[in-house]
Amino acid sequence: MDFDLIVVGGGIVGAAAAYRAGQLGARTLLCDRRDAGRATDAGAGILAPESSTRDGRLWYDFALDAVGYYSALIEDLAADCVPGEELSQAYGLCAKMIVALNDVEAASLAEIERTVYTRQEERRPPPEESVQRISPNEARNAYYPLLADASAVLLQPAARRVDGRLMTAALERGLRARRVETSEVDASALLLEDGRVRGVRSSCGDEYTSEAVLIAGGAWSTDFGAQLDVEIPVAPQRGQIIHLQLPGQDTGAWSIVMGFSDHYQVPWPGGRVAVGATRETGSGYAAYATVSGVGEVLREALRLAPGLRDAAIDDIRVGLRPYTSDHLPLLGAVPGVNGVFLATGHGPTGLTLGPFSAKLVVEQALGLTPAWDLTPFSVSRFLR
Ligand SMILES: Cc1cc2nc3c(=O)[nH]c(=O)nc-3n(C[C@H](O)[C@H](O)[C@H](O)COP(=O)(O)OP(=O)(O)OC[C@H]3O[C@@H](n4cnc5c(N)ncnc54)[C@H](O)[C@@H]3O)c2cc1C
Repeated sequence: MDFDLIVVGGGIVGAAAAYRAGQLGARTLLCDRRDAGRATDAGAGILAPESSTRDGRLWYDFALDAVGYYSALIEDLAADCVPGEELSQAYGLCAKMIVALNDVEAASLAEIERTVYTRQEERRPPPEESVQRISPNEARNAYYPLLADASAVLLQPAARRVDGRLMTAALERGLRARRVETSEVDASALLLEDGRVRGVRSSCGDEYTSEAVLIAGGAWSTDFGAQLDVEIPVAPQRGQIIHLQLPGQDTGAWSIVMGFSDHYQVPWPGGRVAVGATRETGSGYAAYATVSGVGEVLREALRLAPGLRDAAIDDIRVGLRPYTSDHLPLLGAVPGVNGVFLATGHGPTGLTLGPFSAKLVVEQALGLTPAWDLTPFSVSRFLR
C-alpha cells in the first residue's frame, strides 16, 4: 500500500505526529522498533516553561504554545474515545516549587524570579502571573511534607505533569481510532530516487512506499544522516531516574520540587514519587543504570527531601534524551532531499515540546502552513 506519510519512531514525538496525520485524513504508517532507552518511557514529565529560565527566548515562546496545545490534544483524544480516566492519569495540573536550600541558591532563585517576570512582561498579551513566593513553612505544610529546611521557595501553582508512557499509550489508542497503521518494524533505510524520498526499507528487506517520511527517531535519528548526506546533530544524553513508593501517602496532591542541580522530584498519585535525574552528555547508547548515577540521584533526592529516607525503591528507569548542542529541536524539511522531515532533538524538554513540534512538522509535510515558522529549528542552522 502507498502511504501519504511514514513516521519513523514511536516515542511521544512520533506517536503525536502519526496521530496528527491521522486526524488530517492522511494514510499513515508508524514504524517503531522500541529501543531500550526510549526517552519517553523514562521522562519525568514536568511541563512548566513559565518558570524554566535556562533556555532562551525562542525556546520559551515555543514551549508556552506547546504546553497550551496539550489541552486541545487531550480533548481530541477524548473525542476519539480514549477513556477520561486514562487521560487524567496521563496528564494534569500540578504545582511546582523551586526550592533554595542556602543563601547561594536563594540568590539564584531571585535571579530566576526576575527573569520570569521580565519574560511575562515582554510577552504580548502578557500572561497571568505564573509564580509567587511562599514561606518554607507553607511549602512543607501545604505542598511537600518531606521537604528539607529551605531558605526560599518560589511556587508556580499552575504547572503541569505528563506521564510519557501513559500519554504515548493514549496516543496509540487514538491511532487505532484514526485507522493509522503501526508496525514494530526497524525502518533501517530510506528509499531515495532522483533527490526525493520514495519510502522506507526495513532491516528484513520489506519496502513501504510514501512520498513523505518524518524521522522522529529520538537519539537514533542520526542513523539517517549518511544516506541524506546531512549530519543530524543529535546525541544520546543518558538520564537515570528512580521511582519511589511511599505507601499510605497522598502524593497525588503534592507539588513538583526543583532544586538547583538538575535534580527534581515529581509526585504521582498512589504513593509514587519520581526522583531524578542525571544528565550524562557523552554517554553513548549505554541504556543502563550505573552505580554513580543512582548514587547521585539518591544523594540529591535526600538533600531536597530527607523525609524520603525510608521510601521503597520501586523502579529505576534510564532514557537517552535526543540532545542538541543549542538546546533547540530539529524540525522541518531536510535540505537537498524532497519529502524527508525531522522532528527530533528535543533533549530534556521533549515531553513539553514534542506533541506540538510533531503537529507542526506533520502539517508542513502534508503541504499545509503550520502556525509556527519552522525555519529557526531547521537542521540548516548547523550547516552554516
Ligand atoms: C530521565 C529523563 C527525564 C526527562 N524529563 C523530562 C521532563 O520533565 N519534561 C520534558 O519535557 N521532557 C523530559 N525528558 C525528555 C523527553 O523524555 C524526551 O525529549 C522525549 O521523550 C523524546 O521523545 P522522542 O519521541 O523524540 O524520542 P524517544 O522517546 O527516544 O523515541 C524514539 C523512538 O524511535 C524509535 N526508532 C529510532 N529509530 C528507528 C528506526 N530506524 N526504525 C524504527 N524505530 C526507530 C526508537 O526505538 C524509539 O522507540 C526527560 C528525559 C529523560 C531521559
